[in-house]
This record gives sequence, structure tokens and C-alpha cells, in this order.
Amino acid sequence: MTPRADEGRSLSERIEASAARTRAAYGSQAASANTDCPLAGGEGVPEHGGNCAECGREAGATRSHSLVRSAEAEAEAARFYDDLQREGNLGGVELSRLNEEKGNMLGVLLCVDAAGETQVLRAFSGAIDESGIRDAEGYSNSIPPADSARAAELERELAQVKENIVNETAASDRALKAYQDAKSAQEPAIKEKIAKLGPIYRRTDIDKPEKDRLAAALKAEKAEIEARYDPEKQAYEQASAKVRKLEAQRDSLTQQVSEQYAGEREITNFKGESKKQKDACTDAARVSDGRTGNCAAPKLLADAQRKGWTPVGIAEIWIGKDLGTQKDFGESGAYVPSCECCRAILGHTLCGLAERQEEIAPELDIMADEAR
Ligand SMILES: [Zn+2]
Ligand SMILES: [Zn+2]
Repeated sequence: MTPRADEGRSLSERIEASAARTRAAYGSQAASANTDCPLAGGEGVPEHGGNCAECGREAGATRSHSLVRSAEAEAEAARFYDDLQREGNLGGVELSRLNEEKGNMLGVLLCVDAAGETQVLRAFSGAIDESGIRDAEGYSNSIPPADSARAAELERELAQVKENIVNETAASDRALKAYQDAKSAQEPAIKEKIAKLGPIYRRTDIDKPEKDRLAAALKAEKAEIEARYDPEKQAYEQASAKVRKLEAQRDSLTQQVSEQYAGEREITNFKGESKKQKDACTDAARVSDGRTGNCAAPKLLADAQRKGWTPVGIAEIWIGKDLGTQKDFGESGAYVPSCECCRAILGHTLCGLAERQEEIAPELDIMADEAR
């Protein structure tokens, strides 16, 4: 889709017009995809970018790559937001739910396709308001797992183990009930033996060794009674051990599934180089936190990669509940920077983009020069 203001213009004219608007709105520094910036905080940190380990190594300085939040991208994000308000739902989930429960990041990526046309991709972060819906028609969807067949196999195994846990927990509960019943059936007999123990030692007609002998006999009788519910006790112990074993299996499988969808997943940059998410991520704590790589910006960029399109602008907007103190997730409809988890992988993801942009539009080269 061509921004209305640019209709009838050639590709170069459109890009130059966009660049001029961008420079007017954000200054020239933000117009380049290659910007040096500090690791975190401070002026000049790109809102939609991150540090690149590869380029940083060469230059001896921290080098980051970023995408500009252009006026066009903001307009497209606003249009996305308005469309949702009009439709009343996001991927089949009612907007009222987003307002009440949590909300989502929405992102748009402006790209140039092989024919030189502007294309707009749309995505939402993670799952829609924790509904479990991660993908929907018309959006840039999740980055595929490292090995789809393996992920599917692990998920099947996990579902089976979860079902077994339900069944075995019910069996364990029944065994516990049988054990408790068998135990309480013997309770009066046990109490009777215990009650006899004290009086033995209060007797004055027998000596200490005799008292000990009588007490030991009584304890043996008590143990004999307790042994009557031993089979039920053992059955319960075996049943609960089975459940604990299955729970350990479930935890291990859950971890393996999340590895397939996060750490082990391949992220391709604009030089065509792939890295596993765990290697592309500049923050070890975010490698597989269940969020990194699942957000709007990574979904959009991976989709553009697959389609062979060149991104030229991005904008992200928050929709849903005002989470107040939670940074980045403010008022519904507010433009937001890429979240920190995204920025941990954006440096790698965007590497090579500036060169791709220069190939399709030499004008951007001039802008990059100005930015340096
Ligand atoms: Zn994000
Ligand atoms: Zn780089």
C-alpha cells in the first residue's frame, strides 16, 4: 500500500519524500539503519533496534542496528489500531477482554517488495491477551520452531504425559483414601494398646525388667496391627511415586518444547545469516523467557525475511489495559518502543538491512552518510 501523500510518485521519489518527513520528525540520526549507540539507556538509543555482536566486534565500539519509526509507519499503526476498534476484535478475541485483562503490542512493518511497491505487515505480540492464540489469519505469524517435526512429537508426548498425570493422580487419590480407611479401621485397636502402656510403668507389683518385657510385647502387638494396613500404605506410596515421576517427565518435556520454540529457533538476518535465538540474543536471561522472539517486531521481521521484502519503517502501539507502572505498556493507542526482549535480538535480526536498503534506494546511502 502506498501512503496517500506519495501516490503517483516513483520509488526513489517516495523514499526521498519519506526520508524528508522522517528527518523532519525525528532528525537525521534516526533515519539510518546503522547507528552507533550505547548498550542501554542514554540519548540516541534506537527505539526499534539493538546491539549487533558481529559488527560491534569489528568496530571496537558498540554498534547497533535499528529501524526508523517513520511517519508512514505511525500512520499505518494508527490505521491498524482504528481497524481493530471498528471490528471489535483481534484474531477472534473480543477487544473488551484486552481492555479488562491485559492487552497486546501491535506492530506494523513497512517494506518494499521486489516490484518496488510498499507493503505493510501487521502483527500482535505473543498470544492474544494470554488466550493461547499465537497466530491468526492476516498477520505475520510466529517464528517456526527449530525442528517442526521434533516440536510436534514433543508436544504429543507432553499431551500424553499430562493425560497420564490426570489418570495417575486420580488413582493415587483413590489409593490414599483406601490407605486412610484401612488405617482408621485399626485405629481403636492401636489406641487400646497405647492406653495400656502407661499403666505398666505405674505398677508397683513388678520390677523394671518385667515392665520392659510387658511394654515390648505390647509394642509388638501394636506393630502387628499396623502391619494390617501395610499393603494399602505401600500401594499408595507406589501410586504417588508414579505421579511424581510423571511430573518430572512433564517438566523436562515442557523445557524441551520451549527450547524448540525459543533458544534453538533460527533467526535469519538481512545478510542471510542464521543464528540460533540463544546465540543471537544479547541478554542471556531473555533467551527463552517465553517472550523473546514471540513479540510483534520479531514476527514482522521474520515474515519480511521469508517474503524477501526490505523493511523501511516500523511502528508499535499498545492496545488494551493501561498497565501503568509496567514500562512500555501505557495508555491504549500510544506508540511504544520495541520492548527490551525484542531489542535483545534486533541487533542480529537487522544486521545487513542498511546495505539492502541502499541496494533498493541509493538515496538512503546519502542519509546514512549524513547520520555518520
Ligand atoms: Zn516486543
Ligand atoms: Zn551487524
